[in-house]
Amino acid sequence: MREQLYSLKEQALTDLQPQDSLQAINDWKVKYLGKKGELTAILRGMGALSAEERPVVGQLVNDVRDALELAYGEKEAEFKKAERNKRLAEEAIDVSLPGRAISVGSEHPLNQLIRDIEDIFLGLGFTVVEGPEVEYDYFNFEAMNVPKNHPARDMQDTFYITEELLMRTQTSPVQARVMGAKSAEARANGQEHPDPIRIISPGRVYRRDDDDATHSHAFMQIEGLVVDRNIRMSDLKGTLLTFARQIFGESVQVRLRPSYFPFTEPSTEVDATCHNCGGTGCRTCKGTGWIEILGAGMVHPSVLELAGYDPTVFSGFAFGMGVERTAMRRYGIEDIRGFYQNDVRLMQNFKSRM
Ligand SMILES: [Zn+2]
Repeated sequence: MREQLYSLKEQALTDLQPQDSLQAINDWKVKYLGKKGELTAILRGMGALSAEERPVVGQLVNDVRDALELAYGEKEAEFKKAERNKRLAEEAIDVSLPGRAISVGSEHPLNQLIRDIEDIFLGLGFTVVEGPEVEYDYFNFEAMNVPKNHPARDMQDTFYITEELLMRTQTSPVQARVMGAKSAEARANGQEHPDPIRIISPGRVYRRDDDDATHSHAFMQIEGLVVDRNIRMSDLKGTLLTFARQIFGESVQVRLRPSYFPFTEPSTEVDATCHNCGGTGCRTCKGTGWIEILGAGMVHPSVLELAGYDPTVFSGFAFGMGVERTAMRRYGIEDIRGFYQNDVRLMQNFKSRM
C-alpha cells in the first residue's frame, strides 16, 4: 500500500507539470484528490489493514494529500498571476493617444447681441427688466395710448389667446408695467411721486406677419425707457449716439427723422450713418448714406399719466429696436430666417465670441 501511495504521488506530480491552464489543473485535482479520485480510492482500501498499520498509512495518505495540494496551489497561483498580468497589459491606457475632441456649441448671435447691448446700457446706469410674452390687451395697447379701434392696431395684428390676452406685439408694455409698479410702490410708501426709471427690456414679440427674408412672425425687440425730471430730447439723442457708436463703430453719426408712434410725442426714427460706406452712399443704404436703426421719442404725457406719473413733473424718452435687424446690419446677414433655422454653418461663424 505504501508503494501504491508513493507511486501515486510520483505519478500525480509528473502529471501536473505539463498542465497549461487553470481548467487543466482543476481536472487534474478532480482526478487525484476528488471524491472519486485516486487517493480516495486508496483510502477505501484501508479497512483491510491491521490496527498497527492503519495510523501509519493514514499519516502517509495525509502527507501525500498535503504534497499534492501544495503543488496544485503553486501551479494555480502561477496561472492566476499570468492571467492578471495579461489583463493588466490589455487594459493599459496609452496616455500619448490624442483625446477625443468635444464639439462645443456657441451662443446664438441674437443672444450675443442682446448681451452686448445690455452691457452698453448697464454702463449708462440702466437696469434690465423682462416682461411676459403673453400680455394683457391693456398693457400691450391701451396703456401705450392705443385704445380699442385705434388705427395703429392694424399695423400690429397678433395672435390672441382670448379677447383680453394676446401675444405681445412689442416690448413697450414693459414700460407700462414698470411705471405702474413704481407708482404703486410710491403710493404704498406714502411718497408724493414715484421713483425715476432707467430700464431696457429685451424679449420676443409677435406679429401676424407672413415670413419672408426680412419679416418673421416672431422676433426680438429691445425696449428702453427713461423717466425723470427734466429729461429732454437731447438726452435721447446723446444716449442713442453713445449706443450706436459702441455697436457700429466710433465714427458713426446719428440723425433723427420725424415719425409717429402712439406712445411718444414727438416721435422719431433714428438713423445711423451706413456702416458699409461710411455715409457716402452705397447699395446697402440705397444710396442715402443712412440706415434706420430704431424708433424713439419723448414719452407721451398720456402714457405717463395712465401709469401714475405726473406729466407736469416728469418727462422721459423711450426707444425700441429690432434685434434681428440690428444683428443683420452688424453681421452682414441678409435673410432673417437664418437666425431661426439653426444652420450650423451660419452659427459657427459666431463661435469665437464665446
Ligand atoms: Zn452705405
